[in-house]
Amino acid sequence: MNKIIIVGGGASGLMAGITAASKGADVTILEKEKKPGKKLLKTGNGKCNMTNTGESRHAYRGCDPSFAEKILEEYSVQETISFFLHIGIYTLNRDGWVYPYCEQSGAVLEALLMEAKRLGIRIKNNENVTEIRPSGSGFEVLTDTWKYPSDRVILACGTAASLPLKNNYNGFSLALRLGHTMVPALPALVPLVPEKTAVFPWAGVRIRACIRLFTGGIFLMENEGQLQLTEYGISGIPVFGISGTAGHLLLSGAPVRTVIDFFPDFDPASFLSFLEARKEEHPERNMDELLIGLFPDRLIPVLTEGCINLEMLASKIKSFPLDIKSTLDLSHAQCTAGGIRSDEVSSETCESKIVPGLFITGEMLDIDGDCGGWNLQFAWSTGAIAGKAAAEKAKNKNQEAKSVK
Ligand SMILES: Cc1cc2nc3c(=O)[nH]c(=O)nc-3n(C[C@H](O)[C@H](O)[C@H](O)COP(=O)(O)OP(=O)(O)OC[C@H]3O[C@@H](n4cnc5c(N)ncnc54)[C@H](O)[C@@H]3O)c2cc1C
Repeated sequence: MNKIIIVGGGASGLMAGITAASKGADVTILEKEKKPGKKLLKTGNGKCNMTNTGESRHAYRGCDPSFAEKILEEYSVQETISFFLHIGIYTLNRDGWVYPYCEQSGAVLEALLMEAKRLGIRIKNNENVTEIRPSGSGFEVLTDTWKYPSDRVILACGTAASLPLKNNYNGFSLALRLGHTMVPALPALVPLVPEKTAVFPWAGVRIRACIRLFTGGIFLMENEGQLQLTEYGISGIPVFGISGTAGHLLLSGAPVRTVIDFFPDFDPASFLSFLEARKEEHPERNMDELLIGLFPDRLIPVLTEGCINLEMLASKIKSFPLDIKSTLDLSHAQCTAGGIRSDEVSSETCESKIVPGLFITGEMLDIDGDCGGWNLQFAWSTGAIAGKAAAEKAKNKNQEAKSVK
């Protein structure tokens, strides 16, 4: 029978296993943790933002973002939603962001595991894969304790994002030792740390704002949403959206500046007029008092500090500059930017162009998505594509062997 070993029982590994087993393959998943799907449980603050029905064109980054588009054409968002409905997960759509109806990530994992069990997939926990050796027309997959022969191998190890720094993640090195190369993996969807953190009595404030990213005075991108102001810097969905690009700039030594617009509803001139009107109505109030009712109290002294007139105040509120010195480390990130180069993998099958019979899925690849379900969607799609192709390829190989006999 066609033997497929999947390294990693996360989102893409489980999806790959279910797809391959439903095509008749003999599937074993090797998972290094005590249980599969540990990261899946953390997703969407425990609610699991599974996918997104919005426009995917600008949702991904990497050396070649069009790779992600091709993957989603091969296995679409709608196919994903239908698959989950088939295994029992009815979905809830909040402005394009899709969750299980019960809003519990545990339900998504449970449904995947029930389906894996129904299809006879073996899941071996506490099996840390240390090496993959090509052997004959297949592979030997070595763990700390055992050696598994297989016709095909699917590498679905994810990355070290969000794991404690001491976690001995080795997924990339398994692929590198087989001849693959990678774009350096950096934290993405991660908070940013400014040069000066002394200004932060604002810790704990959450406020809707627009954040713009600049390098050397050149505007690169902007994001609007709920900003979280913390003791070390800035966080929240709009910051996550620019953090991957900021990380790559910092790595290359380029200057990184963010500019926060704390009142995105008004353009700068209207905002100044608005403040002047408030002052006219309440000439007795000082600057801090003028801002009461507009901004959280902990933010007000940060905004008014050093301002000697309303022009300066309006300008600071509309364009609050922060020079960024770093991102937080990988243990604080939701995913990585970088990974195994996507041009070393077929977008039709996820098969390695370097090692035939090896497939690579999910976050290991040099693609990272925006918040909103795009990373899981990429994991589901690559898992489904690789599972199907590995099962078919293994089947063809066995048929060829029979006809030679
Ligand atoms: C806090 C948090 C919240 C998130 N929320 C969302 C969200 O709401 N929506 C969204 O789209 N994305 C979200 N993500 C990102 C998403 O979880 C990942 O992109 C996705 O899980 C990647 O799937 P994967 O299969 O590539 O890797 P993973 O799901 O990480 O699975 C990899 C598996 O491989 C195992 N493994 C690794 N190395 C080995 C080895 N050598 N031997 C055996 N097993 C190994 C790991 O233990 C793990 O179980 C979130 C991430 C985090 C950290």
